[in-house]
Amino acid sequence: MRWELVAFDLDNTLFSHEDAFECAIKQCFKIFQDKTNTHLHTVDEDTFFSLFKFNCDNYWEDYEQDKLTRSEYRRKRFCKTMTALELPATNNLADAFHHYYDSIVDDYSVPFPGLQDLLQAISNQQVKLAIMTNGNVKTQFNKIKKLGILQAFERKNIFISEEIGFTKPDKQFFKWVETELNVFSSRCIFVGDSWELDVVGAVDAGWEAIFFNNRGEQRTTSHPVLKEVTTFKDLKSELIRLVTEGRTL
Ligand SMILES: [Mg+2]
Repeated sequence: MRWELVAFDLDNTLFSHEDAFECAIKQCFKIFQDKTNTHLHTVDEDTFFSLFKFNCDNYWEDYEQDKLTRSEYRRKRFCKTMTALELPATNNLADAFHHYYDSIVDDYSVPFPGLQDLLQAISNQQVKLAIMTNGNVKTQFNKIKKLGILQAFERKNIFISEEIGFTKPDKQFFKWVETELNVFSSRCIFVGDSWELDVVGAVDAGWEAIFFNNRGEQRTTSHPVLKEVTTFKDLKSELIRLVTEGRTL
């Protein structure tokens, strides 16, 4: 039996968001030093970034488990960092910081090596391709454009939570895509790097999932996956094998 669809998460699945994130956050902090108080100059961007990254990781679970909204999560990681460095910390400043971050982060994104070949290999097997990502339409769409992979996906195969009104892991997100692309859940593969958002959502919707665990995340539920891989190279060979062989289970 043929697979009908391979859908991908975007951040940390098609490119290293971690690398783009670090460069963009440091750049934001540099700009903020110039725009706010001069005593900000006493903190260098590496110091700011390592503490900021610590706070991101520290509150990530609360965000993933819906204890914090996206905006609360962003305010928290910013304000905790600024306070610890004895720098001004307000929600307004946090919002402005992230607004600027959103406008530049895609400039720092480059695809995992071999991505273009992988997308071509999937297309060659007459299997549909899609991207399903949480976030803001403009930011996510610009990232896809900057990654140079826009031509591999039709616009109607790019699903962004802000636009469709459902957010992963809500299985309605996956059901929406099935209807739009006219595919059967059991013939869809979803690939993502987040256990809670990507794997849980896809499997709950009746899809198969590949867990691209590139940051050593722990599984928090017993949802079954087709495969777990840790490198993009392994992800690529696994997907090419799957679409070539078809669904054999
Ligand atoms: Mg991701």
